[in-house]
Order: sequence, then C-alpha cells, then structure tokens
Amino acid sequence: MIFGSITKLETFTDEFVCFVKVTTSDGHIGWGQTSNYHSDITAQVFHRQVAPWVLGKDASDIGALVTLVEAREHKFPGSYRARANAGLDTALWDLRGKVEGKPVVELLGGTAKKLRTYASSMRRDITPKDEAERLVKLRDEFGFDAFKWRVGAECGNDIDEWPGRTEEVVPVVSRALGDGISKLVDGNSGFSPKRAIEVGALLEAEGIGHFEEPCKYWELEETKQVTDALNIDVTGGEQDWDLVTWQRMIDMRAVDVLQPDIMYMGGIWRTLKVVEMAKKAGMPITPHSANLSLVTICTMHLLGAIPNPGKYLEFSIEGFEYYPWQKDLFLGNPFAIEGGKVQIPQGPGWGVEINPAWLAKAKYQVSEI
Ligand SMILES: [Mg+2]
Repeated sequence: MIFGSITKLETFTDEFVCFVKVTTSDGHIGWGQTSNYHSDITAQVFHRQVAPWVLGKDASDIGALVTLVEAREHKFPGSYRARANAGLDTALWDLRGKVEGKPVVELLGGTAKKLRTYASSMRRDITPKDEAERLVKLRDEFGFDAFKWRVGAECGNDIDEWPGRTEEVVPVVSRALGDGISKLVDGNSGFSPKRAIEVGALLEAEGIGHFEEPCKYWELEETKQVTDALNIDVTGGEQDWDLVTWQRMIDMRAVDVLQPDIMYMGGIWRTLKVVEMAKKAGMPITPHSANLSLVTICTMHLLGAIPNPGKYLEFSIEGFEYYPWQKDLFLGNPFAIEGGKVQIPQGPGWGVEINPAWLAKAKYQVSEI
C-alpha cells in the first residue's frame, strides 16, 4: 500500500456541489467532487453505496476501487452511481498528486501548459442581438477565439425556444463575431434528423464548424443520420456514462467528436477508457465541462495529457448572476483567461484550494472506520 488504506470519506454539500475529502491510514488527504446538481442526493448515494465498499481498502488502485463499487452495486447501474463514484475517483487522483508532489496532468503523462478555450454560453433565454453583444465583448476583453452558443430548445422536438430564434441567432452571432473565430453551436437534443439537417445547412453556410447534440442523444441512429448528411463536425456524448454505449457510438460513427463529462462518467479513470476507445478509432475528445466547479479543473488536467484532445476546453461564460452557486468555491481564481487561454493548475493534485468558508457553510457528512 503506497498511500495507505482509506479510513475516512467526508462530504461537504449543497444542492449544486458536493466536495469529497478522502483520508488514508498514512495521513494523506485528497479532495474531489461528485457531479453537480442534486448533489445532496448524490452525497447520500456516496455514503450509502460507495463509501462502505472502499473504506479500509488500498487507496492506490483507483480503477480497482471504482470497479469494486460497480460490482457491489451492480443492481444500481446508471447516472447516480457514476456521479458518486466521480467523487471517489477525483479525490484519489488529488491524493496521489499531493503525495507525489505533481499536478494530475503529470500523473497522466502531460504537462501543466496553457490550454485554448472556447467560451461557452449556457443560455437560450437571450435574444440573438444580446447574445452577439456579450460574446463580442468577451472576445475583445479576454481574447477568446472560439465560441459556442445555443440553437433549438433543450429536448425541444423541433419547437424552438421561440419561433424563428434558431434561424436568427445563427447568422446574427456568427457575423458579429466575424472571421478568424471558431464557431460552435449546441442543439441539446432539440431536433429531429430532418430538422437538424436543415439547421446544419444553415450552420455550414454561416461558417459554424461544430454542431453539438443535434438529436435526442439516446437515439444514436438519429444523430448518425445528421453526421452522415453534414460536412461539419457533429458532436455528442456528454450525458453518456456506459462504456457499452460509448463503444457503439464510436463503432457506428454516430458523431465526429466525442464529449465525455468526467463527472457524469464516474471520474478520470473511466473517462480514460473512452479516451482509449476513441484513440483506437482515430477520434478526438472534446470533453463536456459546463460550469466553473472542479469539473472544469479536472478537464484541464485531462486535456493536457491525452493523445487525442479536441481543439479546445469548454469554458462556461456564465457568472454568478446566472449560476450563483459557483461563487466562492475556490481560493484565488483558477479560471483566469488570458488571450483566450487558461493555465492548467501547476500545484500538486488538482492544484486548487477549496474555500474553507464555503466548506464551513456546507452540509457535512462522514463515513469512517
Ligand atoms: Mg452540450
């Protein structure tokens, strides 16, 4: 046992965030996070269905622990198990980095370099004119050279957020941003294949190169029709956690670019399985990291190390007025953007410090030997 055995697992939770602290018999600690949203429920899953199986176990073999939880909780496959396992996995990577004095990106074989980001809008309740204005402002202020905005409506069955929004927001935002900018849009499962292919023609005409989740994400055959019909990249996978689904998505070439979310996947170790499958198929990985909690930090470390990264890191532009729960999670600002790039944290583990004041206000639970 290199790092000792796991003796204590603590969680610090509100409805949106659940940080996990792992402590070992050798006195080492690590910090991780479960997936966001309904995080109070995920914390309960963590203490009920993850912690009991791994307390007392060797902290060094992360994959063995994650698969042990999956085997013991095989009656509970699915998102909540993966969301909870992500807390265990990411805490153990941090612990390993802290013990070895290296950032996780180095444990994974990369270096703590700067990463190109794309500025990612989360909003549909915004007019095309207002969206264009704020993205242009971000372009000029922070030097972003890649942007994603939203079309259709989330799981919208071809009904737009309001009539005509898609047809308006695509040219208005694209033309405002101008040349020399990478342009991405996200359909969030909003379209039928027929409508998605129509929208895709507009995207191609307006210089958009990335069409994310055009159709219901669970209907891979529908997405594949769009991928086959368009020249631009069709992308997806953010919700998927099941490796069997990932292999099917890859084998059938349902998309051109794969977008696992480290937290929805159940952590780094399971995400690396998707990276490996993608590498064999010659496909790039542009992970989903849609908020400024630990998911984006972990994604920085992953992207800095894998052999098949996509062109950029997803970087949410929504501030505290839209996501107030993101406020004060970390000390300092690990999300500073300069020239459109962000620095992968260089300190040991994830290289960030969770704010003690935030932790003090959170709901506390502990499982220990
Ligand atoms: Mg998306």
